[in-house]
Amino acid sequence: MNPALRAPIDTLKGVGPVRAAALERVGVRRVWDLLTLPPRRYLDYSRVVEPADAQPGEGAVRGRLGAFQRRPLADRPRVLLVESVLTGPRGRLTLHWFLPRNHARYVRFPPVGTTVVASGPVRAANGRLTMVNPVLEEEGRLQVAGRLLPVYPLSQGLSQGVLRRLVDQALDAYLPLVEEYLPEAVRAPLALLPLEQAIERLHRPENLEEATQARRRLVFDELFLWNWSLEAARAARQAQAAPALGPPGPLAARFLEQLPFSLTDGQREAMAVLDEDLTRPFPMRRLLQGDVGSGKTVVAAYALLRAVESGLQAALVVPTGVLCRQQEVRLQELYRGLGVRVLRYTGSLNEAERAQVEAELASGQPLVVVATHLFANLPRPPRLGLVVVDEEQRFGVRLRQALAGEGVHQLHMTATPVPRTLALTAYGDLDVTVLRGLPPGRHPVDTRWIPERKRDELYRFVRARVEAGERAFIIFPAIDSETQAQALVEQVRVLARGPLAGIPIGVVHGRLPEEERWSTLEAFRSGEVPVLAATTVVEVGVDVPEASVMVVEGADRFGLAQLHQLRGRVARSRSPAFCFLVATPRTPQARGRLNAMRTLDDGFAIAEADLRLRGPGELLGEAQWGAPEWRLASLPEDEGLLREARQALESYIEQVGWETVEGGPIGREAAARAEGEEGWGCG
Ligand code: ADP
Ligand code: MG
Repeated sequence: MNPALRAPIDTLKGVGPVRAAALERVGVRRVWDLLTLPPRRYLDYSRVVEPADAQPGEGAVRGRLGAFQRRPLADRPRVLLVESVLTGPRGRLTLHWFLPRNHARYVRFPPVGTTVVASGPVRAANGRLTMVNPVLEEEGRLQVAGRLLPVYPLSQGLSQGVLRRLVDQALDAYLPLVEEYLPEAVRAPLALLPLEQAIERLHRPENLEEATQARRRLVFDELFLWNWSLEAARAARQAQAAPALGPPGPLAARFLEQLPFSLTDGQREAMAVLDEDLTRPFPMRRLLQGDVGSGKTVVAAYALLRAVESGLQAALVVPTGVLCRQQEVRLQELYRGLGVRVLRYTGSLNEAERAQVEAELASGQPLVVVATHLFANLPRPPRLGLVVVDEEQRFGVRLRQALAGEGVHQLHMTATPVPRTLALTAYGDLDVTVLRGLPPGRHPVDTRWIPERKRDELYRFVRARVEAGERAFIIFPAIDSETQAQALVEQVRVLARGPLAGIPIGVVHGRLPEEERWSTLEAFRSGEVPVLAATTVVEVGVDVPEASVMVVEGADRFGLAQLHQLRGRVARSRSPAFCFLVATPRTPQARGRLNAMRTLDDGFAIAEADLRLRGPGELLGEAQWGAPEWRLASLPEDEGLLREARQALESYIEQVGWETVEGGPIGREAAARAEGEEGWGCG
């Protein structure tokens, strides 16, 4: 990109600090941003018709201009209505202008009797058509009529007129400086417009097809360069050093031998992939995506052990304190007799305990530490070789970014599947492995939607199951205040006095101390307390295979991914499992979610349903995946183009080699576009 195009927007005539601020609100800081500001739509004045052929909507109409009449509006004293007509060979069209009174006399109209073209919105009222506030132009000097007029996104202090004039100014002065950087080899097969032409036609298209092609080229650029940046990040990572692990040794062999079950094919494949990644001298960045209950923990345990066997330290990072304890215990079980040290690092440790863990880590001895997000605050352990992040979707990009510069291997695990459409973008430069299949003997959970009036019946059923020796979760919507915590306790009391009388009920929510949450969970695990009333603190990861009943109260208030996670808690049971969604939903979306839960049980199918119900923006935003910030492109509309851009880049790299791409015009363009975007919004 020619550096002149990066000039700040106030380089343009007519842009002072106030307008610059308004432009910044629509994402325009540099001249380049204005040149590539996509119109939201176009007003179609491309076809000039005669008055008899005018249609409601918008249009350009040619005719002879009649006399003007001015009259005040009865209900709006400050407004003057100016009326005229356009006459053609076969009919007439009324023209109306609504003008501020004190301004009306400055408005100049062409002389009565001349032939003009009027462009503007046409409305039907009282059985006749009227064009409102049209622009009048004389034949031979048309600027609006005969064109598609861009309509830009506006912000306070900007009008279409101002923006259009600024765009014109920018095009006239800067368009000649736009340089093509995409090689013919990339452009030709996709019939992409040259860059300069695309920018001009984005703002001054002759017809909608031109506008579409212009946008296509610019969206392609954005996606192509975005893919380039992923490749560049990958190349940079591969240039980084990380400790390469040796091949699996006797410790790994003993671990596999003593597993209490035989691995699924999916687990075996995932371990093989990790073995390959970990023996490379540059950092692994892999995402292991496996549905709820697919058995990710044992895969993680294997990877952690491999690091320890190679004399390194390894960390398992989990989203909650309760999960931290659970995974510590699970690892200790899986490592029984192997002499692998497992430590825990959470907020509930006291100062001395913390110092103890820190000292052991600092000593550099090979071990595994299970930690919450506090891991990020720890002094970096000197021999850290691997970090596994469990339930990655709970951390989002922030933890990933915190670990980004590290020369350590990283394995991210998630049960939240991303719909195919978004998978292309969501994970940035992570390599993705899907953990296929579930351990044997799992059956689908019988999922039912229970209207609130049937709750009594439901709890009679729950009671019967519990009396038959089963265990049940009852989940309540999140708690973030003391009042809500009390409301939960109160609801539990109602159950304890009524339908569940005489049955011990444990209560777990986020406002209880971790110790108490853990001991209640343990009592539930052991069966001492057969009913656990909880908030979504048990949503992820909690593993109590004996539980077979899941009741979700207020189920319409949970998202689909959450409901699927919750149901996953009872999908591990050997006896038939039930999930009851108690809700009387008020919105179609909530009904859609409940129906999806009733009819689907595969996580990917649920993710696709979620995408349909909510749209990608919300889905990505909430989950905090690395949703890219594109200016022009958006999903799912541009999914096809995203694939094309990806393929085009891959085949070009194949043709000329990565070095040439990185060091050539494409790499320079990507760098130039990114420059000036840094510090965005920070003044
Ligand atoms: P998730 O993928 O949801 O984290 P977990 O790792 O917690 O799943 O495993 C779910 C349950 O399945 C655990 O109780 C675990 O012991 C069990 N499990 C894992 N792998 C197997 C297997 N290959 N065969 C039988 N049970 C398994
Ligand atoms: Mg898990």
